[in-house]
Amino acid sequence: MTDFKPRGRPRSARTGYTCDRCGREVGKIRVRWPDGRICGICFTEASHTYGECPLCGEHRMLPGRLDTGKDICRECAGITTNLTCANCGREAERFRGGHCIVCVLTADLTALLKPNEPPDLRLKRLIAVLTSVGRPESIYTWLRSNGGASSDLLRRIGNREVSLSHEAFDTLPKTHSVEHLRAILTHNRMLPAQDDRQLAIFEQWLDERLHELEGSPEIHSPIERFAKWHHLRRLKSESSETKNMNYAARSAKQEITEAGKFLRWLLDEHGRTAATMGQVHIDEYLSEGPSTRKQIRNFVRYLRKERTVKGVDVPVRLAQTTPMLTQDERLKHIKTLIEAVNISESIRVAALIFLLYGVPIGRLCMLTLDDVEVKPTGVTLKLGRYPAPIPEPFIPLFLAHLESREHQGTVNSGTNWLFPGQRAGKPRSPNTLVLKLRGIGIDIQGVRNTTIRGLVEEIDPTSLSRMLGYSKQIMSKHATAATVPWSSYVIDKNPRFANERPPVT
Ligand SMILES: [Zn+2]
Ligand SMILES: [Zn+2]
Ligand SMILES: [Zn+2]
Repeated sequence: MTDFKPRGRPRSARTGYTCDRCGREVGKIRVRWPDGRICGICFTEASHTYGECPLCGEHRMLPGRLDTGKDICRECAGITTNLTCANCGREAERFRGGHCIVCVLTADLTALLKPNEPPDLRLKRLIAVLTSVGRPESIYTWLRSNGGASSDLLRRIGNREVSLSHEAFDTLPKTHSVEHLRAILTHNRMLPAQDDRQLAIFEQWLDERLHELEGSPEIHSPIERFAKWHHLRRLKSESSETKNMNYAARSAKQEITEAGKFLRWLLDEHGRTAATMGQVHIDEYLSEGPSTRKQIRNFVRYLRKERTVKGVDVPVRLAQTTPMLTQDERLKHIKTLIEAVNISESIRVAALIFLLYGVPIGRLCMLTLDDVEVKPTGVTLKLGRYPAPIPEPFIPLFLAHLESREHQGTVNSGTNWLFPGQRAGKPRSPNTLVLKLRGIGIDIQGVRNTTIRGLVEEIDPTSLSRMLGYSKQIMSKHATAATVPWSSYVIDKNPRFANERPPVT
């Protein structure tokens, strides 16, 4: 316990000293001057005080003090302490080895930055900047703080590993040392201001984006107006103190990108433009896609402000909460299924019926051959009250399935199920069907059947197959090598395909 001294506990007057300038109790006095004992803090303050001496009128360091409290020069005060830098001759505190802080710092920085190996004006300027700050001691401390991280950074710059640029600094870990040096460089205009830089990056991005859209004037023109008059003008005018430029530029990019996607969709899906769209299009667009689509709000409002459109808006609340299948995705899935000849016909046919008619997977698995009707006029499937036609291009694939189903050499042969399962007398299980579909990249489990029924109403199976552009010949090719020619069923003229089944054994 003998050495235990709590922090901040004042030493007794007997063991310590009292500074005659500030009255603080200190363990050690720094110097004795004519006006008394001077503590370290007062010494530093005194040797950093410059001005016109009230006694001799010279402009120089004023370390001494009159009884009146006025600061006076060394000569007038009778101070004999050496306060002249042995290197530069400046009147200053001798910081290290008789040299002033500026000389010490210049030497240290020169060793780190090597501005003459080879000569580099920017590095020389950096040293000048770092040594001419208000308190060069703070740079001296900074070099030694953070476990020498700042010295390491300057050493890498000196070794010409890291260049003096925002881009080079961006590749470094975002540490205090890096950001502090970046701030010093930016403040001294050795690097462009961060905001100007973000703005330049944004403008370059915008140029590229607009260039991509040049082929579609219906999209290019509104996007250009929105980007330049809404976003760019705002980014330029807003004060850098009041906003995070990085964030502002990023959200501007997102809004412009989303606006572009929306106009592309309007044109492709409805042949509409920014000027001819209606609320119904906005609602449809928002209801069927991801939530990022809401980011078209500012764009729509901008169009309204410039009177391109009237009376439309993006609702604040969107009902959509569950994953939804879009018409695009539906078409894509259908294409995948038609072209995936490596997948069994039964899976492809089951999924196609689901995507064409929106029949729930569970009900789909329960379909029997009695629900299928093959006539010379076409093939129908009894899904609801009325037989649903299998669109003509899909017939070859459908018939190929019936054919392979008929010949399956499993225990479940001779069954009446349209999609027989592995177990005798049982249909395919809905769960395994869903798993199979997911296995080929079609996640229809997450999609509510109401969605797909809505899509079916919008584009019925027959128009959809026409839109997909598959001819009967192509579909035959996509069906399977074992395809039974459509004509053979037509010639047969048997009204019920199911009646052709061999008797159940
Ligand atoms: Zn003091
Ligand atoms: Zn003087
Ligand atoms: Zn000096």
